[in-house]
Amino acid sequence: MEKNIIKNLKKNKKTNSSWLLMLFAALFAAVVANAFIAHDGGKDTVQVSGPVELTFSDVLRRASEIQTMNIRDDVATGKLSDGTKYRAVITYNPELLEKIASNGATVSIDTSKGWVDYLGTWVPIIMGLFFIWWIFRGLRGGAGGLSRSLIGQNPTKIMTGKPKTTFKDVAGIDSEKQELVEVVDFLRDKSKFAAVGARVPRGILLSGEPGTGKTLLARAIAGEANVPFFAASGSDFSGIIVGLGVAKIKEIFEMAKRNAPCLLFIDEIDAIGQKRSQTSFNDQDREQTLNQLLIEMDGFSNETGIIVIGATNRPDMLDPALLRPGRFDRQVQIDLPDMAGRKAILELHAKKIKMEKDVDLGELARGTTGLSGADLENLLNESALHAVRAGHKLVAHDDIEEARDKLLMGPRKIRKMRAEDIKLTAYHEAGHAFISTVYADVADPIHKATIIPRGRALGMVQHLPIDDKVSMSLAEIRANMRIAVAGRAAEEIFFGADKITTGAESDIAMATRLARRSITMAGLSDKVGLVAINQAQTFGARLPLENASEKTAEIVDREIKKWIDDAYADAVKILTKNRATVKKLAEELLARETLTGEEIMKIVSPKKSLTKARKKVAKK
Ligand code: ADP
Ligand code: ZN
Repeated sequence: MEKNIIKNLKKNKKTNSSWLLMLFAALFAAVVANAFIAHDGGKDTVQVSGPVELTFSDVLRRASEIQTMNIRDDVATGKLSDGTKYRAVITYNPELLEKIASNGATVSIDTSKGWVDYLGTWVPIIMGLFFIWWIFRGLRGGAGGLSRSLIGQNPTKIMTGKPKTTFKDVAGIDSEKQELVEVVDFLRDKSKFAAVGARVPRGILLSGEPGTGKTLLARAIAGEANVPFFAASGSDFSGIIVGLGVAKIKEIFEMAKRNAPCLLFIDEIDAIGQKRSQTSFNDQDREQTLNQLLIEMDGFSNETGIIVIGATNRPDMLDPALLRPGRFDRQVQIDLPDMAGRKAILELHAKKIKMEKDVDLGELARGTTGLSGADLENLLNESALHAVRAGHKLVAHDDIEEARDKLLMGPRKIRKMRAEDIKLTAYHEAGHAFISTVYADVADPIHKATIIPRGRALGMVQHLPIDDKVSMSLAEIRANMRIAVAGRAAEEIFFGADKITTGAESDIAMATRLARRSITMAGLSDKVGLVAINQAQTFGARLPLENASEKTAEIVDREIKKWIDDAYADAVKILTKNRATVKKLAEELLARETLTGEEIMKIVSPKKSLTKARKKVAKK
């Protein structure tokens, strides 16, 4: 059955710990073995027939004599023009390499299998560094620290092949796709660009929050153009060995050049391309790595046929040098999807899941403001898992609701609550719910009310916006304030002023925020007028109002209080007048825990349906 429902569940993150242990054991064995060999005097015999050792300055001096050079990590081996083999520890230096290469020598860079050869020498050092690194990482709370630094030792992880992903697999970001069609054209046929003398794109920076589909889009470009896709992550380029990042950049660009036309994707490019300001202990190494990246990109000619796509969620952190013409000079911002985008993404991923016919993805899109494409995919996945657990044959509306609430509000709390607290919560939520129905034609329609505790909330009333909000009318703000304070109002009406609880904390905060913004920023209060009064907020502390005299600040405070007082008085009035209905709502909530918007509407005014109210709003 599991298979029936979920055709394509995401695989869980692999756990690295077992192979890490094995690796450690292997390294340890190597150290021990090495110690024995050394005692046998094996090292001496090796050196007799070995290559001559050159110092770095020897290499610099005798650059013209070098015939071949193979570089592994920071060790260069090869032949001199007279045939002698040499070995030298060098520091990376593009000018040196150029000088050597310009004499006709072949220089090859090999980072793919280097470290094995130097196990004996390096292992004790590396292990020591590992431990320091590990401890540092551990202190900083990164459980993945060790595996990270190990990856640093391995050859750069490169995903390759021609991806089958195409633009069809990317939903909801059509204008971004449109901007990148040209890149596909270039990869397909670069001569077309050269023919008209168009400047050829080189680097594109995709910026956007995690999960907005940057990697997906890059893969799709390669897929559309039918060219190989190489991917690396900026964090791969920072290792514990100085110079490794530079070598890896070279390696990956070498590979890209051999496979051009192709697309090179560098995720988390901020890891190498950060502004050069903070002084950390591997800052210099990172700077060299960044320089190498820039050198490589500057070296592209129109014939190179490589497109580099960098991804970041912090474009503001990037070194401006990266963004200069000829580098990542084109920026495409990928925003979190809007309502239509979310619907498209949901529809795309829903194809992988078998669902009941009545599941309304449009409604789900309305109720998932702020979620990324990856979140939405995850949501559908969670729904499918829930369906399996619940023994459903198809994913049902309930499964999706549960997954959504879990994602947005946290998992259900199995909390022992006193009966009277549950009762109070039911009346509190009934208060919110009732006032919501009163303002159904102004505010967002009510989606559901529940007394199932989740996260920090004991219960909640959810609303579903009709469309993405850009602004709110004064009427809407007034309605929302009344809805917000209605929970507390209901507590007071049904349980008395001395029984009110702290459960309304977030409601009050929300009403206050709404009032404050409307008054100080949107000019919606005639007492204050059309003046923008910014109020800077630091962590925890509120600074005094800016651009305002003390007197104005007082007026603002009084206005906010008046708005909230008015809202509260209105809520009390409305709820008192409809005591019986509110009680009915609360009792139904106690009996059923959750009521849908439709059910609430039916209890409140059996004649008016929710859909009618919704249509009315939609017409506005
Ligand atoms: P990013 O690189 O921006 O962090 P990814 O490209 O890795 O995001 O997105 C993760 C997954 O989320 C994708 O593999 C895809 O399944 C899903 N996803 C994200 N955005 C979209 C989208 N616009 N259309 C379809 N799927 C998406
Ligand atoms: Zn409340």
